[in-house]
Amino acid sequence: VISDPQLAAAEKYVQSVYETIVQRNHHEPEFHQAVKEILDSLVPVLAQHPEYEQNSILERISEPERVVSFRVPWVDDKGKVHVNRGFRVQFNSALGPYKGGLRFHPSVNASVIKFLGFEQIFKNSLTGQPIGGGKGGSDFDPKGKSDLEIMRFTQSFMTELYKYIGPEVDVPAGDIGVGAREIGYMFGQYKRIRGGNEAGVLTGKGIVYGGSLARKEATGYGCVYFVNEMLASKNLSFQGSTVVVSGSGNVSIYAIEKAQQLGAKVVACSDSNGYIYDSEGINLDTVKQLKELDRKRISEYVKIHPHAAYTPGCDGIWSIPCDIALPCATQNEIDAASAKLLVDGGVKAIGEGANMPSTLEAIDVFLSNDVLFGPAKAANAGGVAVSALEMAQNSMRLSWTFEEVDAKLHDIMKNIYANSIKAAADYGHAGNLVYGANIAGFVKVADSMIAQGV
Ligand code: GLU
Repeated sequence: VISDPQLAAAEKYVQSVYETIVQRNHHEPEFHQAVKEILDSLVPVLAQHPEYEQNSILERISEPERVVSFRVPWVDDKGKVHVNRGFRVQFNSALGPYKGGLRFHPSVNASVIKFLGFEQIFKNSLTGQPIGGGKGGSDFDPKGKSDLEIMRFTQSFMTELYKYIGPEVDVPAGDIGVGAREIGYMFGQYKRIRGGNEAGVLTGKGIVYGGSLARKEATGYGCVYFVNEMLASKNLSFQGSTVVVSGSGNVSIYAIEKAQQLGAKVVACSDSNGYIYDSEGINLDTVKQLKELDRKRISEYVKIHPHAAYTPGCDGIWSIPCDIALPCATQNEIDAASAKLLVDGGVKAIGEGANMPSTLEAIDVFLSNDVLFGPAKAANAGGVAVSALEMAQNSMRLSWTFEEVDAKLHDIMKNIYANSIKAAADYGHAGNLVYGANIAGFVKVADSMIAQGV
């Protein structure tokens, strides 16, 4: 039993650490938000474990081990030279080599990469695999770029990044704007520079040159597996439910696929310009053709399926009544107002496929209305979990079947759910997966940091 004075003291400590972090990291609102969510849920842990304060674990865990920023010059198809900024944040290596994706999007800056890298520490810990936390990317906008421009940019990016990564050091993968094509170009460039085939340096590779089956599907499938566990705890299921999924990228597409396989009707998805509503259920073959092959906008869907409706703008998607919402687009896509719309529409469960898609206020709305809430660190951990399985296959120089990888992914997601539920109950917040995931992710990293000395 934790006493009130112990909790109050821990709360005070957490608050002072948070203030120091805000001061030290000026103008980094996304990073502050991610830190706040973690620190607040660690109060009951700190109240019981004085060793974490004694070892300044919070102060150490919130300071990246290393931040690299570099120039990325590249030549467009007209011969004009452009410059973007590249980043790699190596946040924490207590559990293993830094692991985390690369994001290419104009919104990328130090704050965004740091929030993503920070989240990755705890997410990776939750997977149960030996991987530390990192993240990288660039403010380069891949939209509208030709294939050759993408190749020249990614090669230039790797020409700098290669110095900091390696199969035992730091293993990047994809994220928004980085898929199999970009990973392929970067892998080729790394191989050219290093003069050898170090397959485990990147994950999300093409299947025939060291990639893993089911990696492409992993984040979306994993998110649905996780939500399925949440639903089962209340005797609910995907079968016959109405689902809204934001985004139409890699996470979204495979969340839709698995939800449909489990008998759900997915009625909406989106891209950064707007969303489509199809009362008959989204035709996933069309979405795959448009987004994976043609690289077109989601608005094209209604040309092929005229009974469906396209609405410009992104917030409106949350006003569609549904049983389950899977935000799979980007950070802070659900604010308090959108969360209230979802609650009014009768939503029973949220599974965060994107990283930090709900604001802190939106999470409060869900939790105070008894909506089942699967936080990103837990719900979207399937992608990086299968990345770690790709690393394992690369080390063994063999590959598992789709069914083997998918079964391992399913087990990992069930374990993350069970461990998070247990941690939440152990620390006095039964059923709250925000507490559960943050605590379960944190404790292993903190104990490893203490074990490995200062
Ligand atoms: N970008 C994904 C994430 O946010 C995957 C990272 C990885 O596979 O390393 O977890």
